[in-house]
Amino acid sequence: MASGTIFSIEEFAINDGPGIRTTVFLKGCPLRCAWCHNPEGLLPAPQVFHGIYGDRITGRIVEAGDLAAELLRNRDFFAMNGGGVTFTGGEPTMQPRFLCEVLDRLEGVHKAVETSGWCAPGVYADVLERVDLVLQDIKLASPEAHRRWTGQDNSPILRNLETLKRSGKPFVIRIPLIPGVNDSLSEMESVAALLRGALALRRVELLRYHKTAGAKYPRVDLHYDPGFDREASPAVHTEVFSDFETIIL
Ligand code: SF4
Repeated sequence: MASGTIFSIEEFAINDGPGIRTTVFLKGCPLRCAWCHNPEGLLPAPQVFHGIYGDRITGRIVEAGDLAAELLRNRDFFAMNGGGVTFTGGEPTMQPRFLCEVLDRLEGVHKAVETSGWCAPGVYADVLERVDLVLQDIKLASPEAHRRWTGQDNSPILRNLETLKRSGKPFVIRIPLIPGVNDSLSEMESVAALLRGALALRRVELLRYHKTAGAKYPRVDLHYDPGFDREASPAVHTEVFSDFETIIL
């Protein structure tokens, strides 16, 4: 049985898919977004977290069957309110065997994954066929800007986005709004152009930058220096997504 590393399980989540959900945070991410507000999710292994009441370890290793059994305890509750389980991170596709094994064990539960899409095509396809909904992040359309602000090339993401569009699987696009990084009209128009022909796209969610994103960095021995004006408010161009339901979270 596969085991994996998670750093949080949050119950009663209402913004990670339909209904009231349990959200599972998997540890490890190949990106380094300048605005990331979950720095304890970046490294794949458990690590020290300097908490208010002293040091503790963030991240625990769990077997797929044990995690699935824990999540299935709420199966009736999910069924009653149209909810389910959402896997996020970090980047959940960084632990593909573990993720797929947990998903396979959640029979009768609505399953969603939130992903940057930065993973091998085969991994993306394996996860896609096991979930009911994809929450697909898009940070930047411009390849150079994507490298500059996330540390990675966006070609794997764009390739997987095309797979998602062709699959017919219901999905939501999530775009963090970062002042001076991706909130220009031209950048948002480029993102909107990527969504043309996305028949199963249910909604575009624009996520406001957390001004407190840096708070947890010292707690995991990291320095927060995002390189943009963190006090500025991002411009919001909902008009470019007029073909789709669009909300600001
Ligand atoms: S993809 Fe998400 S978890 Fe990874 S660095 Fe970016 S914001 Fe953080």
